[in-house]
Amino acid sequence: MPAINKYLYDIEEECGVFGVYGHPEAANLAYLGLYALQHRGQEGAGICSSDGKQLHIEKSMGLIADIFTEKRLKRLPGYIAIGHNRYSTAGSSSLKNVQPLVANFSLGTIAIAHNGNLVNAAELRGRLEDEGAIFQSSSDSEVVVHLTAHSRGESFKQRLVQALQDVSGAFSLLVMREKELIAIRDPYGVRPLCLGRFDGAYVVASETCALDLIGAEYMRDIEPGEMLVINEHGLDSIKALHSPRKAHCVFEFIYFARPDSCIFNGVNVNGVRKNLGRQLAEESHIDADLVIPVPDSGMPAAIGYAEVSGIPFDLGLIRNHYVGRTFIEPKKTIRHFGVKIKLNPVREILKGKRVVVVDDSIVRGTTSKKIVKMLREVGGAREVHMRISSPATVGPCFYGIDTPTRNELIAATHMVEEIKKYITSDSLSYLSIEGLRSVIPGPDDFCYACFTNEYPISFPGEHLQQLDLFVGT
Ligand code: AMP
Repeated sequence: MPAINKYLYDIEEECGVFGVYGHPEAANLAYLGLYALQHRGQEGAGICSSDGKQLHIEKSMGLIADIFTEKRLKRLPGYIAIGHNRYSTAGSSSLKNVQPLVANFSLGTIAIAHNGNLVNAAELRGRLEDEGAIFQSSSDSEVVVHLTAHSRGESFKQRLVQALQDVSGAFSLLVMREKELIAIRDPYGVRPLCLGRFDGAYVVASETCALDLIGAEYMRDIEPGEMLVINEHGLDSIKALHSPRKAHCVFEFIYFARPDSCIFNGVNVNGVRKNLGRQLAEESHIDADLVIPVPDSGMPAAIGYAEVSGIPFDLGLIRNHYVGRTFIEPKKTIRHFGVKIKLNPVREILKGKRVVVVDDSIVRGTTSKKIVKMLREVGGAREVHMRISSPATVGPCFYGIDTPTRNELIAATHMVEEIKKYITSDSLSYLSIEGLRSVIPGPDDFCYACFTNEYPISFPGEHLQQLDLFVGT
């Protein structure tokens, strides 16, 4: 068995993309769009603009508000812009991987911003490197640039389509050239991507919350397999890639997208999450005094749960919204801050109560365990009943959600009763798969791989290690 290394390249997990064509303040609009999409990635961000002659790029590690000063935005002139918020897994933090990626080749300069994960990127990269390609980054998205440069079509569009026919996986992709903006979605439509109109300009964004911020009107989603070319001739839609089926990521509805967004053909995320909570209450009723959410992710589902169960709702856990990805713990005096820095129980609400706690998912189980402990010890709750508004997470995601390897997923190796014991709750219930499907509009058009291990887009051997099928290779 050859050595399989999932870190051969970095995955553009959970990113946010935003593009604008035909506005004198294109970069400023991209800045605002990225601001609204900050939840999709906090590691780094960039904006690339074009004035019709030349591309201009500014990117850095950090949050949008810290990266883009007025001075920096002024260095991004032009009427076209694309922007990207990057999320990455630990250990792959590097400015060279922050997008948009800019490259020069025979047909001019291009910039790309990608959300999703290309499942055959390592294989393609190996082939391209054997043919002499020199990569600037370890990002999976760069293979698209090299494939485009290597392909033989006459026009840029033909080359790009040819390149994308070779890649497999999830991509909501923006490509900018000096005089045009191209938006493409993979044939399965895994990650969201929508089109809007603002002040005579076209706007494309991962989620509609970005359109809302600038006051753009939602027009429609970019279709799976569709390539939308926006230039001086207007908007041209090309059916570029054959779409065998749709496989929208159901986890976008459960956890990832913002509740105020409408995704996958205009469905409001908050509404779906509330319905997940309602369905969960139907399936797993328990006598209790109080329903509380794990903020923020469990909030809409907890509201739905309380509504159907008739149990009063309150905010028994308060979240500190200013916690970054890391913080410095005092060495010896107070150990294991963990989740405490983020969440604090409200004793006045919880004391002596039988509490139902609603969260969207359990991954490793560590968060739930700490929350249960905290609710009992600090909050004084008499009973703690954990309710999860999705089925048990049993499979890693290869299409762009950051999940650990299978044997780190507690539900992949433990029964519900064992998980209950581990997290020390009085009871634990997940939403059923059927219950989830009953809430999702057009359920056959979604990917449920993280709950079923049925992967709609096949992937090569590089991921078997993550699946832990070949332990010790
Ligand atoms: P864990 O402690 O590993 O079980 O994490 C569970 C918590 O992480 C839940 O509160 C979820 O809301 C949250 N969560 C679920 N999926 C993700 C993800 N892909 N990235 C970050 N947080 C997540």
